[in-house]
Amino acid sequence: MQVIFLGLPGAGKGTQAASITDEFHIPHIATGDIFRAAIKEKTMLGEEVKSYLDQGLLVPDELTIKIVRERLLQPDAAHGFLLDGFPRTIAQAEALDKMLEEERLPLTNVLYLEVSEEELHHRLTGRRVCSKCGASYHVTLNPPKVQDVCDRCGSPLIQREDDRPEAVRVRLRENLGRTGDLAKYYDDRGLLTRIKGENPIGDVYEDIRQALRRQAE
Ligand code: ADP
Ligand code: ADP
Ligand code: ZN
Repeated sequence: MQVIFLGLPGAGKGTQAASITDEFHIPHIATGDIFRAAIKEKTMLGEEVKSYLDQGLLVPDELTIKIVRERLLQPDAAHGFLLDGFPRTIAQAEALDKMLEEERLPLTNVLYLEVSEEELHHRLTGRRVCSKCGASYHVTLNPPKVQDVCDRCGSPLIQREDDRPEAVRVRLRENLGRTGDLAKYYDDRGLLTRIKGENPIGDVYEDIRQALRRQAE
């Protein structure tokens, strides 16, 4: 099962991916997570991408595509994966098509989580993430059981640098048109499933599951 989560920042991709990968046993490949881990570990990649992430700007295509190509060649991705946050541009989508053609791994489904801009702004500015496992929470919409502590692993929650209002505005602007273009790209290829991302987390999960089950039949 080769699946893409398409959606603007804050649409709920990370939240849903955590449950999907547990249930369907496929690796969750999130370019944002890869970049943040590299920044934390101060690797060469981290140095290269830090300023883009801090500002909410897209990392250049060439570098992003190279990172994803390397990740998809890892053995755990040979029998399926869930891509979250990639592709974000048409050039990335075309590069992905080529990679998957070479690997003979056709895309199964592109799930488009649709959420209004106003709601996204609210979600992103109130988001808190686990400093260790990356799990996503919200101060009011999806609070942890104990304030500022991760339900899954007990580590402290933090606010991402790029979830400050100024960076959120840049990120939404960077991604709005591009996400629409990508939805059209995959719709034209008959791969797109639209999901009502504004529904409660459990309902969104059910819709995603159904879409994936239908595909598997
Ligand atoms: P969100 O969870 O808010 O959608 P991500 O964690 O996916 O954000 O991405 C965080 C940042 O990482 C982006 O603002 C961008 O700088 C960089 N990034 C992630 N994926 C890509 C991509 N496919 N192309 C370019 N930059 C990316
Ligand atoms: P993305 O990975 O697409 O950037 P996240 O999964 O991190 O998005 O979710 C963004 C924020 O919105 C988080 O604070 C999360 O707890 C919250 N959230 C996710 N899905 C929903 C939902 N269906 N309803 C309300 N809040 C949600
Ligand atoms: Zn955690």
